[in-house]
Amino acid sequence: MASITIHEKRFSVYLSDEVLQKRIRELAAAINADYAGKKVYFLAILNGSFMFAADFFKYLTIDSEICFIKLVSYKGLKSSGEVTTAIGLEEDLHGKNVVILEDIIDTGKTLHYFLPQLLHQQPSSLKIVALLHKQEMTKYEVPIDYTGFVIPNKFVVGYGLDYDGLGRNYKDIYQLADEE
Ligand code: 5GP
Ligand code: MG
Repeated sequence: MASITIHEKRFSVYLSDEVLQKRIRELAAAINADYAGKKVYFLAILNGSFMFAADFFKYLTIDSEICFIKLVSYKGLKSSGEVTTAIGLEEDLHGKNVVILEDIIDTGKTLHYFLPQLLHQQPSSLKIVALLHKQEMTKYEVPIDYTGFVIPNKFVVGYGLDYDGLGRNYKDIYQLADEE
Protein backbone atom coordinates (compact mmCIF):
# COMPACT_ATOMS: atom_id res chain seq x y z
CA MET A 1 0.00 0.00 0.00
CA ALA A 2 1.40 3.38 -0.99
CA SER A 3 -0.55 5.17 1.71
CA ILE A 4 -2.61 4.39 4.81
CA THR A 5 -4.94 6.37 7.06
CA ILE A 6 -4.76 6.07 10.85
CA HIS A 7 -6.92 8.16 13.18
CA GLU A 8 -7.83 10.30 10.15
CA LYS A 9 -4.21 11.15 9.37
CA ARG A 10 -2.64 10.09 6.10
CA PHE A 11 0.73 8.37 5.97
CA SER A 12 2.77 7.54 2.85
CA VAL A 13 5.17 4.66 2.47
CA TYR A 14 8.68 5.73 3.44
CA LEU A 15 10.81 2.62 4.03
CA SER A 16 9.54 -0.45 2.22
CA ASP A 17 9.67 -3.96 3.59
CA GLU A 18 12.47 -4.79 1.09
CA VAL A 19 14.56 -1.79 2.10
CA LEU A 20 14.07 -2.54 5.80
CA GLN A 21 14.96 -6.21 5.48
CA LYS A 22 18.09 -5.47 3.47
CA ARG A 23 19.34 -3.01 6.07
CA ILE A 24 18.44 -5.31 8.96
CA ARG A 25 20.46 -8.10 7.36
CA GLU A 26 23.40 -5.70 7.11
CA LEU A 27 23.08 -4.69 10.77
CA ALA A 28 22.94 -8.34 11.84
CA ALA A 29 25.96 -9.14 9.67
CA ALA A 30 27.91 -6.36 11.41
CA ILE A 31 26.97 -7.76 14.83
CA ASN A 32 27.86 -11.31 13.72
CA ALA A 33 31.30 -10.07 12.67
CA ASP A 34 31.94 -7.79 15.65
CA TYR A 35 30.91 -10.41 18.20
CA ALA A 36 32.33 -13.48 16.43
CA GLY A 37 33.07 -16.21 18.98
CA LYS A 38 31.20 -14.37 21.72
CA LYS A 39 27.77 -14.70 23.26
CA VAL A 40 25.45 -11.70 23.16
CA TYR A 41 22.55 -10.84 25.42
CA PHE A 42 20.07 -8.72 23.46
CA LEU A 43 17.64 -6.40 25.21
CA ALA A 44 14.74 -5.42 22.97
CA ILE A 45 12.73 -2.42 24.12
CA LEU A 46 8.97 -2.93 23.95
CA ASN A 47 6.55 -2.19 22.47
CA GLY A 48 7.92 -0.61 19.31
CA SER A 49 10.88 -2.87 18.67
CA PHE A 50 9.11 -6.24 18.73
CA MET A 51 8.98 -6.62 14.95
CA PHE A 52 12.47 -5.31 14.32
CA ALA A 53 13.89 -7.54 17.07
CA ALA A 54 12.15 -10.62 15.65
CA ASP A 55 13.49 -10.05 12.13
CA PHE A 56 16.96 -9.02 13.27
CA PHE A 57 17.24 -12.07 15.52
CA LYS A 58 16.67 -14.44 12.59
CA TYR A 59 19.82 -13.17 10.86
CA LEU A 60 22.13 -13.76 13.83
CA THR A 61 24.57 -16.64 13.70
CA ILE A 62 26.44 -15.96 16.96
CA ASP A 63 25.24 -17.36 20.29
CA SER A 64 22.36 -15.03 21.10
CA GLU A 65 19.97 -14.63 24.00
CA ILE A 66 17.14 -12.14 24.03
CA CYS A 67 14.99 -10.48 26.66
CA PHE A 68 12.12 -8.07 25.97
CA ILE A 69 11.79 -5.21 28.40
CA LYS A 70 9.45 -2.30 28.77
CA LEU A 71 10.50 1.15 29.91
CA VAL A 72 8.09 3.34 31.77
CA SER A 73 8.86 7.01 32.06
CA TYR A 74 6.85 9.08 34.42
CA LYS A 75 7.12 12.46 36.04
CA GLY A 76 7.89 12.60 39.72
CA LEU A 77 5.98 14.81 42.10
CA LYS A 78 8.45 17.59 41.52
CA SER A 79 8.57 18.86 37.96
CA SER A 80 12.24 17.99 37.44
CA GLY A 81 11.84 14.32 38.39
CA GLU A 82 11.93 12.24 35.23
CA VAL A 83 12.40 8.55 35.99
CA THR A 84 12.61 5.54 33.73
CA THR A 85 11.94 2.09 35.12
CA ALA A 86 12.68 -1.25 33.57
CA ILE A 87 10.00 -3.89 33.68
CA GLY A 88 10.95 -7.41 32.82
CA LEU A 89 14.72 -7.41 33.20
CA GLU A 90 15.07 -10.97 34.45
CA GLU A 91 18.78 -11.51 34.65
CA ASP A 92 21.73 -9.75 36.09
CA LEU A 93 23.79 -8.29 33.26
CA HIS A 94 27.10 -8.61 35.08
CA GLY A 95 29.84 -9.81 32.73
CA LYS A 96 27.51 -10.05 29.72
CA ASN A 97 27.91 -8.55 26.27
CA VAL A 98 24.68 -6.58 26.13
CA VAL A 99 23.21 -5.13 22.95
CA ILE A 100 20.10 -2.96 23.12
CA LEU A 101 17.62 -3.15 20.23
CA GLU A 102 15.60 0.05 19.82
CA ASP A 103 13.07 0.85 17.14
CA ILE A 104 13.63 4.60 17.12
CA ILE A 105 15.71 7.18 18.95
CA ASP A 106 14.20 10.63 18.90
CA THR A 107 15.28 13.05 21.67
CA GLY A 108 17.35 10.27 23.24
CA LYS A 109 15.69 10.83 26.60
CA THR A 110 14.47 7.28 27.13
CA LEU A 111 17.84 5.61 26.70
CA HIS A 112 19.76 8.46 28.29
CA TYR A 113 17.91 7.81 31.55
CA PHE A 114 17.92 4.04 31.24
CA LEU A 115 21.57 3.39 30.33
CA PRO A 116 23.01 4.22 33.78
CA GLN A 117 20.69 1.60 35.31
CA LEU A 118 22.14 -1.01 32.98
CA LEU A 119 25.74 0.11 33.42
CA HIS A 120 25.25 -0.14 37.17
CA GLN A 121 25.02 -3.92 36.70
CA GLN A 122 28.49 -3.90 35.12
CA PRO A 123 27.96 -5.70 31.81
CA SER A 124 31.29 -6.47 30.13
CA SER A 125 30.11 -4.39 27.16
CA LEU A 126 27.02 -2.41 26.23
CA LYS A 127 26.12 -1.33 22.71
CA ILE A 128 23.04 0.10 21.04
CA VAL A 129 21.39 -0.81 17.76
CA ALA A 130 18.73 1.66 16.62
CA LEU A 131 16.71 0.92 13.51
CA LEU A 132 15.76 4.59 13.12
CA HIS A 133 17.43 7.75 14.40
CA LYS A 134 15.88 11.22 14.22
CA GLN A 135 19.34 12.70 14.49
CA GLU A 136 18.31 16.37 14.31
CA MET A 137 16.02 15.87 17.32
CA THR A 138 18.52 14.21 19.64
CA LYS A 139 19.09 16.42 22.66
CA TYR A 140 20.23 13.84 25.22
CA GLU A 141 23.52 12.09 24.65
CA VAL A 142 23.09 8.46 23.61
CA PRO A 143 25.99 6.47 22.15
CA ILE A 144 24.39 4.71 19.18
CA ASP A 145 26.75 2.07 17.82
CA TYR A 146 24.70 0.73 14.91
CA THR A 147 22.08 2.82 13.08
CA GLY A 148 19.69 1.47 10.46
CA PHE A 149 18.45 4.75 9.00
CA VAL A 150 18.89 8.40 9.92
CA ILE A 151 15.45 9.93 9.29
CA PRO A 152 14.04 13.46 9.30
CA ASN A 153 11.81 14.81 12.05
CA LYS A 154 8.53 13.48 10.71
CA PHE A 155 6.27 11.07 12.53
CA VAL A 156 6.53 7.48 11.34
CA VAL A 157 4.35 4.42 11.86
CA GLY A 158 4.33 0.76 10.89
CA TYR A 159 6.73 -2.13 11.42
CA GLY A 160 6.00 -2.15 15.15
CA LEU A 161 5.67 1.64 15.54
CA ASP A 162 2.28 3.04 16.44
CA TYR A 163 0.25 6.20 16.19
CA ASP A 164 -1.91 6.27 19.30
CA GLY A 165 -2.00 2.48 19.50
CA LEU A 166 -2.62 1.72 15.84
CA GLY A 167 -0.39 1.03 12.85
CA ARG A 168 2.08 -1.44 14.33
CA ASN A 169 0.92 -4.25 12.04
CA TYR A 170 2.21 -2.90 8.71
CA LYS A 171 5.33 -4.44 7.22
CA ASP A 172 6.53 -1.14 5.73
CA ILE A 173 7.31 2.09 7.57
CA TYR A 174 5.09 5.06 6.72
CA GLN A 175 5.68 8.77 7.20
CA LEU A 176 3.08 11.39 8.05
CA ALA A 177 2.05 12.99 4.77
CA ASP A 178 2.18 16.76 4.40
CA GLU A 179 -1.20 18.46 4.73
CA GLU A 180 -2.62 19.56 1.43
P1 5GP B 1 13.16 9.43 22.81
O1 5GP B 1 13.15 9.04 24.26
O2 5GP B 1 14.42 9.06 22.09
O3 5GP B 1 12.77 10.85 22.60
O4 5GP B 1 11.94 8.69 22.15
C1 5GP B 1 11.93 7.37 21.86
C2 5GP B 1 10.50 6.88 21.77
O5 5GP B 1 9.62 7.89 21.25
C3 5GP B 1 10.40 5.74 20.81
O6 5GP B 1 10.70 4.50 21.41
C4 5GP B 1 8.97 5.86 20.34
O7 5GP B 1 8.14 5.20 21.26
C5 5GP B 1 8.68 7.33 20.38
N1 5GP B 1 8.79 7.97 19.04
C6 5GP B 1 9.63 8.97 18.69
N2 5GP B 1 9.45 9.32 17.41
C7 5GP B 1 8.46 8.52 16.93
C8 5GP B 1 7.82 8.41 15.64
O8 5GP B 1 8.10 9.11 14.65
N3 5GP B 1 6.86 7.47 15.54
C9 5GP B 1 6.49 6.66 16.58
N4 5GP B 1 5.53 5.78 16.35
N5 5GP B 1 7.07 6.75 17.80
C10 5GP B 1 8.05 7.66 17.96
MG1 MG C 1 10.90 2.36 21.46
